[in-house]
Amino acid sequence: MRIGINGYGTIGKRIADAILKQKDMELIGVTKTKPNFEARIALENGIDVYASSSDRIKLFEEFGIKVKGSLEDLLKQIDVIIDCTPGGIGATYKPIYEKYGVKAIFQGGEKHEVAGFSFNSICNYKEALGRNFVRVVSCNTTGLCRSLYAIDKAYGIKKARVVLIRRGADPHEDSKGPINSIVPDPVTIPSHHGPDVNKILNHINITTIAFAVPETLMHVHVLNLELNNFVSESDVINTLSKYSRIKIISAKEGIDSTSTIIEYARDLGRKRYDLPELIIWKESIKSFGNEIYLSQAVHQESIVVPENVDAIRAMTRIVENPEESIRMTDEALGIGR
Ligand code: NAD
Repeated sequence: MRIGINGYGTIGKRIADAILKQKDMELIGVTKTKPNFEARIALENGIDVYASSSDRIKLFEEFGIKVKGSLEDLLKQIDVIIDCTPGGIGATYKPIYEKYGVKAIFQGGEKHEVAGFSFNSICNYKEALGRNFVRVVSCNTTGLCRSLYAIDKAYGIKKARVVLIRRGADPHEDSKGPINSIVPDPVTIPSHHGPDVNKILNHINITTIAFAVPETLMHVHVLNLELNNFVSESDVINTLSKYSRIKIISAKEGIDSTSTIIEYARDLGRKRYDLPELIIWKESIKSFGNEIYLSQAVHQESIVVPENVDAIRAMTRIVENPEESIRMTDEALGIGR
């Protein structure tokens, strides 16, 4: 499969690296709006760069960055475009993707309606088979879908109540806040995450409340789940441990904060300290019979990367079995190690 990426930023550059590692996909090129250091590093790594529009090609030439053409030149050569432009911009590109007859994957910053289908690998891979447009849900929703699906499948969830503590900005976003505040984000209930989970797991009764805090590393979620069955803490741990994209870590071993999780990722040798796995603290799993609590952490910059790779396989039907695609992606990316 021949793949292009529109928007080579936080998410786009990680998906580009992930595609380069898959045996059944070829990265044809990425687009950049500006001739900055990211464009130069992409070229140094052998990735072809295209200007986001033809009137910008000159700008790249002035900076001595050789581009292969414009987005339209890229679209002529590919089967699937992965739109990684900032939230809301992707929708404006849909007509041009349609014009060139390419399948398109949008990200969580776009509305569900842009693609008409929201995706998570373990929850609804088969429903994505052959689709022309798919939206991979946001980092928070991806994390929630992974743990809620696993627990719902094993025990049945009657009611989910979740508090999300969101990182204020990504590490490079030095103009964003909050700097000295805890911001209800939004102050009204529910936050958009619960309704977004319902786009994928529509039978789950979920309410979410979110706050943004002055931190850039990860999000943290506190889940309170009422289940159909009585479960022990070890039952829950065993269930969650079966999923390669869920990693149970132990505070007792010193991984007791988002900063130590990131240190752990560094020690694992993960590029850019990425952790596409959903991280769950073992000690936070607490059972009160048919009611459980758990705390989980989401590395916002990388958790959606494997889902984008799987979405390509589902849309193009090169792999129809979800477990097979997940296994291929995880093996290539070293997930679950
Ligand atoms: P980003 O700002 O880091 O990257 C966006 C890239 O698109 C930049 O390279 C920018 O120059 C480029 N761009 C801007 N305008 C463009 C245009 N008109 N045409 C083409 N390219 C353009 O953003 P991001 O964090 O990578 O987010 C991309 C998408 O992924 C959004 O929908 C976002 O909601 C979603 N997402 C982000 C995160 C996260 O934590 N960063 C997590 C999950 C999903």
